[in-house]
Amino acid sequence: MKQKNLLYTGKAKSVYHTDTKDRLIVEFRDDITAFDGGKKDVLKNKGNYNAGVSAFFFDYLEKNGVKTHFFTMLDPHHMVVRKLEMIPLEVIVRNVAAGSIVRNYPFREGTLLDPPLIVIDYKDDARHDPMLNDEIIIALKLVTPAELKKIKKVALEINRLLSAVLAAQGITLVDFKIEFGRQGKMIYLGDEISMDSMRLWDKKTGESLDKDVYRFEKGDVMAIYNRVAQRITKSGKKP
Ligand code: 5GP
Repeated sequence: MKQKNLLYTGKAKSVYHTDTKDRLIVEFRDDITAFDGGKKDVLKNKGNYNAGVSAFFFDYLEKNGVKTHFFTMLDPHHMVVRKLEMIPLEVIVRNVAAGSIVRNYPFREGTLLDPPLIVIDYKDDARHDPMLNDEIIIALKLVTPAELKKIKKVALEINRLLSAVLAAQGITLVDFKIEFGRQGKMIYLGDEISMDSMRLWDKKTGESLDKDVYRFEKGDVMAIYNRVAQRITKSGKKP
């Protein structure tokens, strides 16, 4: 498969057309950003760690019945995916209160959220990704009511599957953000599932193992991304 012209470039990934119908190549770059791009750096190998973890999770989810855009890795930071029409929703599942839910609502950090909370934001940097509710999502015609119901069901199933595989590695899945896209009538999980889009806490020490290390300068980001990527993908307990 040959990489062709650039289709889209985001804060940490670039997407390219290919010579194959309905296939795109996603390049996981070494850029890292936080606070709507207010903090930016380039960290060597960061793209590889996120691509490796994303590929591992997409493969695991597919094997467990979740439809994803993932086909294969071309090299450690280039992923072949199904071409989707992305839906501008950030679907966030929260198992433990942390981050914006603690800043914006009277939750105490660390409180268990059982059942998990689903929060859906509008993906729009210029508007700072405002939180939506079902009525706004439907009024904006971003998805149909049936699609919204399905997306929430799949998000909870993904949460169940990811939480289990991470718990086996001694990691709590605090929360994560996923995005979906359409091909025809089908909805697939797209984007990535990585240390940039999950909040992970070590079960024993409570240490952050995700982008919060970068956001809040809690330690050596790349040493932690490397360690957590190894822990997740080289566990020998591939589900
Ligand atoms: P929060 O709303 O607490 O900032 O984020 C909740 C979870 O969703 C965190 O795991 C965070 O990393 C992820 N998340 C929220 N918004 C974004 C975003 O715009 N990009 C990425 N990569 N992850 C996000």
